[in-house]
Amino acid sequence: MPGNPDSITRYGAGEVSPDPFVRGYEYLQAVRQLALDPKMVEVPDNPRLITWVGNHIDAINAQLHGSLEACHGCFHAEVRRQVRILATPLAPEFGIDGCCNIWRNPVAILIDVGRTAPADWLRVVVHEYAHAHLCSPGHDRRFFEVICHLCLGLGLEPPQRQSEMETYLRYWPQVSCRINPLAFWMGYS
Ligand SMILES: [Zn+2]
Repeated sequence: MPGNPDSITRYGAGEVSPDPFVRGYEYLQAVRQLALDPKMVEVPDNPRLITWVGNHIDAINAQLHGSLEACHGCFHAEVRRQVRILATPLAPEFGIDGCCNIWRNPVAILIDVGRTAPADWLRVVVHEYAHAHLCSPGHDRRFFEVICHLCLGLGLEPPQRQSEMETYLRYWPQVSCRINPLAFWMGYS
């Protein structure tokens, strides 16, 4: 995918393999290095999934990149952070749709696009983007302000003030989760 900075071609060692399984495997290995904890991106022993990643990841990442650009569009260029966004299956025990590694430069956002319907991907990106923008993992008043700004800019429902703000913001914007995220990653949905 020419011009896409998150293309897998940036990650493989040397030439991009013509074998989708090899491309998928190398991609997932590379993404592991960007996770807060490598265990978040366990490379599954599942040839169907790995091959599916090799065949489809560039198109999915291009879509996530579009959402990232939409978030960037809500801020003046001089306050935008350098952010990289990549799709990956995330280990179910962590129970998250996305994570933001603020300790990386550029900040790395990883999104498990199998956990939500494509219509919700932007919402997941918005949440992680707010962490990236603030360079903070917290769900505090500053996070509330940034999420409000992004939601209003992108036509999503903004959060309301609550007593249990932290817990509420942890799951904002709201998304509906799929029962079996791996089905998506194996091309079944
Ligand atoms: Zn969060």
